[in-house]
Formats: sequence, structure tokens, C-alpha cells
Amino acid sequence: MSDDHGTIESLSSLAHDDGESYPPSAEFREQANQRSPEVYLRAAADPEAYWAEQAQNRLTWKKPFTEILDWTNPPFAKWFADGELNVAENCLDRHVANGLGDRVAIHFEGEPGDTRTLTYAELTHEVKRAANMLTSLGVTAGDRVAIYMPMIPETVISMLAVARLGAAHSVVFGGFSAESLRARIDDVEAELVITADGGYRKGRVSPLKPVVDQALELDDADGKPSTVKHVLVVKRGGNDIEMTEGRDLWWHEEITSYDGEHTPKGFPAENPLFILYTSGTTGKPKGILHTSGGYLTQATTTFSDVFDIKPESDVFWCTADVGWVTGHSYIVYGPLSNGATQVMYEGTPDTPDWGRWWQIIEKYKVSIFYTAPTAIRSCMKVGRQVPEQYDLSSLRLLGSVGEPINPEAWRWYRDVIGAGKTPIVDTWWQTETGAMMVAPLPGLTSLKPGSSQIAQPGISIAVVDDDGNPVENGQGGLLVVERPWPAMVRNVWGDPQRFIDTYWDKFGDKYFAGDGARLDEDGDIWFLGRVDDVMNVSGHRLSTTEIESALVGHHAVAEAAVVGADDETTGQAVVAFVILKSQQHLITEAEAEQELRAHVASHIGAIARPRNVYVVNELPKTRSGKIMRRLLKDAAEGRKIGDTTTLADTMVMQLISDRVVAER
Ligand code: ATP
Ligand code: MG
Repeated sequence: MSDDHGTIESLSSLAHDDGESYPPSAEFREQANQRSPEVYLRAAADPEAYWAEQAQNRLTWKKPFTEILDWTNPPFAKWFADGELNVAENCLDRHVANGLGDRVAIHFEGEPGDTRTLTYAELTHEVKRAANMLTSLGVTAGDRVAIYMPMIPETVISMLAVARLGAAHSVVFGGFSAESLRARIDDVEAELVITADGGYRKGRVSPLKPVVDQALELDDADGKPSTVKHVLVVKRGGNDIEMTEGRDLWWHEEITSYDGEHTPKGFPAENPLFILYTSGTTGKPKGILHTSGGYLTQATTTFSDVFDIKPESDVFWCTADVGWVTGHSYIVYGPLSNGATQVMYEGTPDTPDWGRWWQIIEKYKVSIFYTAPTAIRSCMKVGRQVPEQYDLSSLRLLGSVGEPINPEAWRWYRDVIGAGKTPIVDTWWQTETGAMMVAPLPGLTSLKPGSSQIAQPGISIAVVDDDGNPVENGQGGLLVVERPWPAMVRNVWGDPQRFIDTYWDKFGDKYFAGDGARLDEDGDIWFLGRVDDVMNVSGHRLSTTEIESALVGHHAVAEAAVVGADDETTGQAVVAFVILKSQQHLITEAEAEQELRAHVASHIGAIARPRNVYVVNELPKTRSGKIMRRLLKDAAEGRKIGDTTTLADTMVMQLISDRVVAER
């Protein structure tokens, strides 16, 4: 990352300047969880008091806290440090104790169509048994347990059982290779791995246990064997696997020895809850450490307020994988702590066909749906005729996370999925922030397509220039968090220096998020992409997001990624990679390239006109679906392609490189 980020200019007059705005309907506002703007004022007046109130009112403490924030040793924050709680009890036992045991916690839908319903009482029972099983395998408070699983209920049960014992989980997304898994196991020094034989993906069983075997056979960086003593295996895929005597155990065989009696102990609020690696969009993944009380407070609060959840009537569905932070905070901890009912789906949106998601929404009457822009754009590419075949009238709120949602995709999402009436909450946050930071409150905010708009109550966000001075409305700059927040990253696991260097070196007391953002005339926040990706063309700093949005706004374009490539005359030049909508293959690539260059110039300005536009079939994405621009930059500059370990499909980059070379 260069030292000189400068500020990002806003040259564009994209959709946001025409005053397009969607206020909440009177009907929505009247029933909303947050319906008075007073909440913002109250929280701003005393953020710590606001969070203490949330922690007290929304969570159950074994020992009440008297301290709120301890920031005496920045950047290492402590929240509610003298309080004690059990995170799993907050997600389970207390709901059962409140008479909600019969409420459905999870409607599980397997990819092959098998289903399983778990009430709060049943989930609590399963977690207690699992906690007893883990105890007998030697797991105690402070240990780390690696979880490498498909999207099945046992994944949630495992996470909660680990949390219940005061140990920390490190979930590794089931698509990662043996090398990536091993690196994460070594980094957290896990003695137990919980996995499954395999899980269903795209209509077939994708093996997991064999990958664990392979990971454990590898030598670590120092040639040492792994720390793992046991591998616990859930039977899911039915695929043939090998079991190593003395090390490997079947979950279903072991669990029968344990009953459902287990009393949750209180653990300090700063007890580690999980370590999760970032998705690696901008570089080597970082092991992000989260702790218990503050994290759960913010996950619980934002889940309730941003999604406007009514636990007694809503059915929530987040399509993320539990292997990402979105799954941690908005499949496991936020929903369960609130006692909500949710859908959990194992597979991909296109299995057996692109109707699958919409069929699930119809079947379970999902009312609140949370997904990523990349998925929305894929659905757009397939066409509205698919979702139109299903009854989606149960939906009352939609959410987006993971990347900036371009206005074109926002409008499609609202019109086609939300019947032209549901609010959309565009939620900005990171693995490091633990929970949502910038997002509308749907009963209060007049929505603007493409903008995350406003910091959550109790969160202090600013857009600043390189010296840390706040920019004025209408200007772009760097996004920072000005005060510690409850769910903030506590450390980079095993590497406090990296924690300091990455997030705190630049501005000292302000958290540097690594994202560029712009304030519009109303002070609403628009994300402009990663600071690492910002382009400098003839001295103008241009945003990837704005140029990509302009490209996707063209009727022929399904997806776009833009990078700045070295250029002899302009310093950097804009290079665009686009996927055309399927019907558009009628125009030639040369015509498309000409037209798209002109389109960007007329929509944003001549300075943003791409030097090259490459029509490609796929874009390089992380396994969480984000575009990896750094790899495209390597290709555009004719360099060897960098670290691709978190890439979903490594072939994609080869094709793109070939395409770029062919044109040189
Ligand atoms: P790494 O930090 O290893 O490069 P990553 O940043 O992709 O990986 P995550 O923590 O999963 O890992 O992603 C957080 C990032 O995702 C944010 O910094 C931001 O760039 C992007 N992001 C998430 N939600 C939004 C949103 N609603 N609008 C704009 N950008 C978003
Ligand atoms: Mg990041």
C-alpha cells in the first residue's frame, strides 16, 4: 500500500445526483423497531452509554459489567471487561427459559432437497450434547477449534458448543484447499478439527474429510507435524472416506454417549469467541480475533435494528456461507441471540436451476433476505423471468453486503425481488468490524440506490483526507472509524504488529478501514472501492466503483471490473474487464469496446475513459464472491499473477491473461 492515498475525486454525476430517493412507507415506519431519529442523537451524545444500554437490555449476563470501554492501551480495546456471560446461553438457553423453546430456530434446506427443522429447544439440546462431547475430547476454555464444514446445522451446533465452553472457533470455508486449511489450523494451533465427510455443492458431493486428511499430512512451514489430536466427522455426503484410528471419530457415533445436561459457565466479556481470516481480496488473509461481550452486543443490536426483525413473525434468510463473517454475525450470533427464525441453505443458487433461491423464499415465506451484489448481478444476468415465476410476496425487507451495490443492481433487486416496495439496506462492514457499521435504518432512512448512507447509532464514522482531516460534503477520501466500537477486531491473531501496521499506523487513534468513500451533498456515504485499488490517472484519483457502476449501467453489460494499469503518458490508465449479457453476443467485441469507452467518457468524464476494455467470460473472484482487482492489475500490467489461494476458480485468471496478451 502506498503512503500517499490522497483523496478520491468525485467526477461522476451518476444516478445519485438526480435526487433519487425512497423514503420508508408510512406503513413500514409505523411498525419499525427504530422509528424515531432520536436514537441517533442519544447514541451520539454518549456512545458508551448507548452501547452499555444495548449490552444490558439485549444480553443476559452471568456477572454484570461495571466498566464499559477501556481504551487505556490503544489500539487494544476492551469492552465490558469485568462482566461475564456465556455467548451460547444468550443464543439458546435463555430463549427456552423464556418459553420460546418451540419456536423454530433453523429451517434447514439441503441442496438435494432434504430438510430438517430445529426449534430453539432442540438446538439447545444438541448444543449441550455437543458441548459434553467436546469436553470429553479435551476442549476447554481458551482452546481453539477448527471447523471445516458444509452449510449444515451441525456447523452452527459446533460453533455454539465451542463458544459454550469458552473456547474459540476458527471456521474455515469449505471451499479452501488443503494448504489453506493447514495454514489456518497451524496459525491457531487447533487440537481439534470438526468436519464432515462431504457436503452437497452443484448437484454432487464435494469431499471435505479427504481435504482435512491431506492438510494434516502436509509439513508445516518448519517441517513439524500439525497440532491436531482429533478429527470429528459429521456424516453428510455419504462419500467414502478413510478414518485414522485413534485420531478420527464419527460425530453420530460419539454423540450417543452424551446427554443434554450442560450448565453454561460465565466467561469474561473479553474471552476470545472466534478467529476468522479475511477473504484475502487485497492480500494475504489476516486472522481476525473477536471476543465475546462487545461482539455479541453489536451483532444483536444491528441484526434487530437494521433488519427490523420481529422474532415472533419474521423468517430471515442470509445466503452467506458460515465460513465468512457475514455467516458468523448474521446466521449464527445475531439471529440466534435475538431468538429469530431463519432459513439455512446448503447449496448454490443455480442447483438444480436458477429458481432455487426464489423457490426457498416461497416455501418458507421468507420475509427478510440478505445477500451480496455479486449474486444479484448473476440473477440479473439470468433474467427476471426466473424469479417472476415464484411468489415472493412474503418479502418485506432486503439487504446487501460484501461490495458496493451499483444503482442498477439495487433497482433490479427492489423491483424484481422486492415487488418495487421493500426497503433495501446496503450494509457496509468488514471481518474486522465484526458487525454492521454503515447502513440505513429502514424505518427512518430515505434510501438512495448505491449508498450505504449512514453510520449506525453509536458508531463514529468519518471520511478524511490523507492528513486525517474530515472532507466536506461532495468530497471523497478515506473511511475511518473515529472511536472504538464494541464488535471491533481485538488483534490479528499472533501478530499484534500487523494489527497496528494495517489499521492504526496511518491515523493513530482512528481505525483505517482501507476503503475509499465519498460524502454526497446530504452527507450520505458512498463507497468507492478499496484504497489499494484507487487509480491515479494524470494526477486525478478515480474510483473503481464509480467506473464499474457506469459500465454496469450500460444495457449490454452484466458485470465489470476496473483497474489502474501503469501507463507511460498518464501514470496509470483505466483498464476495464467486462462480461456482456448473454443476448449481447450479437455485437462484436470490438464494437462493444468502442461503445463502452465512449459510454464511460460521457457518463463520468473523458479522464475516466478506459484505455482498454476487455470482454471476458468470467472475472476472478474470491470464494466469497468479491472481485480480486489486484490479479487483474497483474494481468493488465503483464506481470506474473500474484497470490491466488483465495480465488474461487484459478483457471479464470489464465484465460484473462491470455486475452490481454493476445491484444498486446
Ligand atoms: P482482505 O481484507 O483480506 O483483503 P476483504 O476485505 O475482502 O479481504 P472482508 O472483511 O470479507 O474481506 O470484506 C470487507 C470489505 O468488503 C470492506 O472493506 C469493503 O471493501 C467491502 N464491503 C463490504 N460490504 C460493503 C458494502 N455494503 N459496500 C461497499 N463495500 C463493502
Ligand atoms: Mg479487508
